[in-house]
Amino acid sequence: MHTLFISDLHLAPERPQITDQFLHFVSNTAPGAAALYILGDLFEYWVGDDDLEDPLNDTVSRALSALAAAGTPVFLMRGNRDVLIGREFAMRCRATLLEDPVLVNLHGTPTLLTHGDALCTDDVDYQRFRSYARDHENQAKFLAQPLAARREQMLGLRAQSEASKQQKSEAIMDVAPAAVAELLHKHGYPRLIHGHTHRPARHLHSVDGHNCERWVLSDWYETGGYLRCDATGCSALAA
Ligand code: MN
Repeated sequence: MHTLFISDLHLAPERPQITDQFLHFVSNTAPGAAALYILGDLFEYWVGDDDLEDPLNDTVSRALSALAAAGTPVFLMRGNRDVLIGREFAMRCRATLLEDPVLVNLHGTPTLLTHGDALCTDDVDYQRFRSYARDHENQAKFLAQPLAARREQMLGLRAQSEASKQQKSEAIMDVAPAAVAELLHKHGYPRLIHGHTHRPARHLHSVDGHNCERWVLSDWYETGGYLRCDATGCSALAA
C-alpha cells in the first residue's frame, strides 16, 4: 500500500496544460493508492464554493470525485491561495477537508501534514495577511459580496502579492528553521510533509536529539511532481 501527496498545483484557466497534467495524474497515477492528499493551493485562487460557472472547478471536482468513488480516498487541505475552499466544494469532490496542521499515521510512521505557509515566520508582512485572511469574520464579509466583486478583489490581491514577492529576499520567503523545530517539538517529533515554498527537497532536522525528516512538495508550474510514501519511506517522483 502507498499514499500520494501533492500541493501547489495552482490550477487556473490560464494554464490548461497543468490542468491536463493533473487530470492525467488523477486518472492514471492516483488509482490504487491508499489515499491522495492535496496539501493546499490546488487552485491559483478561490473566491467561494458558489463559483460554479467556472468549468475548471467542475472538471477538477468530477475527477477527484471519480477517484474517491473508485476507492482512493481524497484528503484536501486549504492553502493560502484557496483558503476559502469550504465543505460544499469538498463534498462535490467526495474529499475530506483537513485542518492545518494534521498528524496522521502514515503506514506506521507518525507524519505531520501542513501547507507550509505558517512556517514562513520571517515574513512578518505575510503572517499579518495570513491572520487576516484566515479570520472567520473577514471571510464571512468577503463571501457575502457578489461573485463578480469577489473575483475582482481576488485578482487585485494576486497582483499585489506577486509585486511584494519581487521585493522580498529568497530567505524570508522560505520556512524558518526555528518554526519547523517548534512544530516538530509540539507534535512529538514526527516526519513532516509540506508544500508552499516551491522548493522540493528532503531535509533532515535534529530537534531535541530526535532526527526528523521534512519533505517539501514540488509545485506544478513548469512540471508536476508528487511524493509517494509507503511503509519503507517516501520518494519524490515526477508527475
Ligand atoms: Mn501556498
